[in-house]
Amino acid sequence: MSYKNFTIETDDDGIALITWDMPEKSMNVIDLSVMDELEAIVDQVAGDDAIKGAIIQSGKAAFSGGADLTMMEGLLKDFHVKRGNDPEGAAKALYEGSRKLTLVYRKLETCGKPFVAAVCGTCMGGGTELALACHARIVDEGLKMGLPEVKVGLFPGAGGTQRVMRMTDGQQGMQFLLQGRTLRAPQAKQMKLVDEVTGTKKLVAAARKLLNAGLDPVKDWDKKGYRLPNGKVYSPAGFQFWPAANAIYRRETHDNYPGARYLLHAVVEGLQLPMDLALQVESRYFAKVLQTPEAANMIRSLFVSMQELNKLARRPEGQRPNKIRKVGILGAGFMGAGIAYVSAKAGIDVVLIDREQEAADKGKAHSDELMSKAIKRGRASEEQKQKLLARINPTVDYEALADCDLVIEAVFEDRDIKKTVTEKAETVMKSRAIFASNTSTLPITSLAQASKRPKNFIGIHFFSPVDKMMLVEVILGKRTSDRALAMALDYIKAIKKTPIVVNDSRGFYTSRVVMTYIREGLMMLADGVPAAMIENAGRMAGMPVGPLSLGDEVALDLAWKIVSATRKDLGVKYVEGPLDNILEAMVVKQERFGRKNGKGFYDYKGKDKTLWPGITDVTGQPKPAESFNIEELKQRLLVMQALETARIFEEKCLTDVREADVGSILGFGFAPYTGGTLSYIDMMGTATFVDLCKKFTRKWGPRFKPNKLLRDMARENESFYGKFPPNPEQATKDAA
Ligand code: NAD
Repeated sequence: MSYKNFTIETDDDGIALITWDMPEKSMNVIDLSVMDELEAIVDQVAGDDAIKGAIIQSGKAAFSGGADLTMMEGLLKDFHVKRGNDPEGAAKALYEGSRKLTLVYRKLETCGKPFVAAVCGTCMGGGTELALACHARIVDEGLKMGLPEVKVGLFPGAGGTQRVMRMTDGQQGMQFLLQGRTLRAPQAKQMKLVDEVTGTKKLVAAARKLLNAGLDPVKDWDKKGYRLPNGKVYSPAGFQFWPAANAIYRRETHDNYPGARYLLHAVVEGLQLPMDLALQVESRYFAKVLQTPEAANMIRSLFVSMQELNKLARRPEGQRPNKIRKVGILGAGFMGAGIAYVSAKAGIDVVLIDREQEAADKGKAHSDELMSKAIKRGRASEEQKQKLLARINPTVDYEALADCDLVIEAVFEDRDIKKTVTEKAETVMKSRAIFASNTSTLPITSLAQASKRPKNFIGIHFFSPVDKMMLVEVILGKRTSDRALAMALDYIKAIKKTPIVVNDSRGFYTSRVVMTYIREGLMMLADGVPAAMIENAGRMAGMPVGPLSLGDEVALDLAWKIVSATRKDLGVKYVEGPLDNILEAMVVKQERFGRKNGKGFYDYKGKDKTLWPGITDVTGQPKPAESFNIEELKQRLLVMQALETARIFEEKCLTDVREADVGSILGFGFAPYTGGTLSYIDMMGTATFVDLCKKFTRKWGPRFKPNKLLRDMARENESFYGKFPPNPEQATKDAA
């Protein structure tokens, strides 16, 4: 038999070597054709007396990236179409469609012949579940094994929840499943999720050895008298473990993620049943979670849209691909040093310029530190570190920019300094090279006035810390050319980050929305909400940190500077508010600037922080917590950010719903379970959102007034994704 995605060769010992190597794909993924072929292969192995066991290996550098979630999107679309006329039939089709993989893996597990997974490199989601369904797993040292489904609103629904919890320690297993973390080889081995670790080239030989020695084709849990490694759910040990697991789930998720909630259900209920029934329970919860708006939104934003943006959905047509060989970075401070690191890591040569050699060297030392840490954690070698460092040339000499394809400035946020470095760099840069500014707030069009070639001038806004934050916001000035945009996007792809493209305005998209979140926290303080309640409301709403904490991170003196500048710009038109008094008291009177001087709304001691007890000196005594409704506070924080996004969309600074959503989650951690700022509005319905804005306007002030676009959409009962559908064809315009 021949297959599209697999080849099979059987040796003289009767061992079938199955090689998974999908044509025209850089990574093996599980789609409908893979499922069908895998099932046929299991039948072939089981039915052929000449085959006594099988090895599944990958023909690519990695084992598998997991299931192609667009398949789930398709299932969901069918479900919603059918649901109107035949709700029962639609639910049944969804259940059966979504458990297909479960049944294929179970067939493999119970077919009577032993299967060994020979796993190289990355092995994610459905790929990991395939390996777990096999009777043994041999992995290489580069293993990255994970079940990241909770991160896109789902849970591992092809047996993952049941097999992990039957193979490993309960606490570690629950953490692995609930956090969607990636395991390296030693940890996976320690957790008994893999049997042996060896070199990549020795995987198949090791698997053969195991099969020749006679590997049991019946799993323990399919034998009589099987005992769970952690004891029964209803047992003294279980009584200690499960209530605590539930408490941790609540602490980590605030019950915002149906995927995590149903995962716990599937585990606790499934562990009380034999495997086939347990898998049925898992499938029922999986079909249930698929129907939640949270899962649909998260799959759309964090899988489909993110993939499209990563493939440069916004790359202008007709631009030739650029290979970026060398970048210049002006300013080797906090951001410049980070940009140098991610560029050199991607194999790009870097010229890192600062005013003094010492400062430039210090910028390079940041890469040294990061690589040394990676070595300590076993994630890089000394050789890789030396190679990376050799790519960075720290200097004060602008002549070194002569052969750079792209120059990014990350000097102080000061117009005059930015002007000086732009002019200085352009005198040596190639005429076709692109100049980018990493400014967080200054409009690009105005900065481009310092440039002799504003067509080649663009904003490339990184987030801190640069090595960890995946988003990059590209800003188009009025005269920025398509070529400059293509170059910026090609660079961002090369450093493996996710780009969004926005039009110019003060604060662009992300900084502008982040400031509204912080401002709303300050307004709550002014309203007499206790500080701890504000912070909890932020986290319970799904934000990574509370607004006061974020204010401290961004720096209160900076916020005060912005407020003072706006006040100066607007003159008599400026309306003083309670926020001014709080910021002034914090910064001018108390000299509390935030984390940077160890004093802000929190007191900082090393990594620890506690709310500053003196806040009441600034705000006065808060009202009792009971006088506020926590649900309303949570909504207030999310609504303000979503509303600001809708305004930015109306102003056409944002032009693509995908970018609004992905940008909000990756850029400032907007409650991921919502799918992002605009999905949040769509999820509740525009009319409901507008009503909420009106209610908040009456209660909290005109800053909640819904904009015209929202009011019009509410009247017409329109959604953002309905009214502004992203162009799916653009997504296929992969530059590579
Ligand atoms: P920083 O103060 O840490 O670094 C600025 C560096 O620029 C310093 O090393 C300084 O010596 C150098 N510099 C100043 N004038 C120079 C000149 N004429 N030539 C060469 N080097 C010069 O500041 P940062 O936090 O890295 O911010 C840099 C830029 O990035 C700013 O525009 C800022 O708004 C933007 N930004 C900052 C963040 C953040 O979180 N810090 C995030 C996004 C964007």
